[in-house]
Amino acid sequence: MEVLRNKAQDLLAQGQAQIVIGYEAGTGGIRRPSFARTAADTARLVWDADCISNLAGYLTRPEIKRMGKTAIVANASTLRALLQLTAERQLAEDAVLALAVAEDGTVTELATAQAVTDHVAALPDALSAADREQMNLLASMSREERWVYWEKELQRCIKCYACRSSCPMCYCGTCTMDCNKPQWVPVPSHALGNLEYHTVRAMHLAGRCVECGECGRACPVGIPIHLLTCFAEESVHQQFGQKAGASAKLDYALGTFRPDDKESFIR
Ligand code: SF4
Ligand code: SF4
Repeated sequence: MEVLRNKAQDLLAQGQAQIVIGYEAGTGGIRRPSFARTAADTARLVWDADCISNLAGYLTRPEIKRMGKTAIVANASTLRALLQLTAERQLAEDAVLALAVAEDGTVTELATAQAVTDHVAALPDALSAADREQMNLLASMSREERWVYWEKELQRCIKCYACRSSCPMCYCGTCTMDCNKPQWVPVPSHALGNLEYHTVRAMHLAGRCVECGECGRACPVGIPIHLLTCFAEESVHQQFGQKAGASAKLDYALGTFRPDDKESFIR
């Protein structure tokens, strides 16, 4: 912990970063985001196995960008999202200094997109063993069974949009869901509107979801909504060979084409 705090202090003191985003102790043992701009602020930084949330969503916020160079204490999810956001031109290449903390507390500075890419390449599967098991279960179902599964799950959705707010890849200034002229998707929580919201969101995240699980953790009614976007992401990976969050250089599979692309999906 001291190594991380000292590193953050040094970066701020030497002007290498104007803000360090990391984790601090919250109520009830949770780890919440921490924003250190002074040496005194860095005393709040913590790092342990409970630092699981993906902090990359803060990197695209205008108020954070205005503060200057950002350093971020980055778990695997944050690193993957950092790469994906760079690939999508939401962050300038090498604009963010990532601090990867090892189990023994040593801190590795990853100052370039290439350094982050190399680091991420050596990390294990993004999904937990439990989520992988659920994904395998979903994959083993027929399309009709999966439809029934999601229809049932999505009926419980209260349209609070916590899944959208917590997702680092949901950064649009105005979401289609909030458009009311015309009103594309009904505002109230009901079966059809819920299905529309989640179908649109899954399609927007297909090939872009970094499988951090943040949206599922944020859901107040316990819908495993991350499995829907992860499933869409893995479908794109299988079809086009592209993996979101693996590189800062990516021609988005669903936004580009090659003359020899498969057309088997056209029915
Ligand atoms: S859709 Fe969910 S799992 Fe995927 S990047 Fe967003 S928060 Fe993470
Ligand atoms: S967080 Fe859960 S309840 Fe809220 S909109 Fe997303 S799926 Fe629905």
